[in-house]
Amino acid sequence: MHELSIAQSILAIAQKAAPPDVIITGVNIQVGELSSIETESLKFAFTAIRDETILQKADLNIDIIPGEAQCADCSNIFHLPAFGHPCPRCQGFSLKILKGREMKVTSLTVEE
Ligand SMILES: [Zn+2]
Repeated sequence: MHELSIAQSILAIAQKAAPPDVIITGVNIQVGELSSIETESLKFAFTAIRDETILQKADLNIDIIPGEAQCADCSNIFHLPAFGHPCPRCQGFSLKILKGREMKVTSLTVEE
C-alpha cells in the first residue's frame, strides 16, 4: 500500500527531526491535491504504525495544497483539481504542473 510507505517515511522524518525528551502530539504535513495520496488511507496507515514509536501520542494534521497548472499554449495559470482536465481558457492539454504534487512534513507539535 502506497500510503503505508508514506506513513513510514513521515515517522522516519519525525524521528530525525524531534529533539530528545519531548512528547510529539502532532505531525503537520502538506499534501498536494495532485499527489495521488488518499488522505483517509494515510491517516489510517499513520494510526497503524505509530504505536510504540515516538509518534504514539501524535495526531496527523493534513493541510491540502491545491493543484495549480500553467497552460503551455496560452500561459493561463489555473486551479487543477485532478489530472486529465484541460486548460479552462483554450482547452489545451499541454500543462505544466506548478503546485500540488508535494508531500512534506512542515512541523511537529511537541510537549516538553
Ligand atoms: Zn490554455
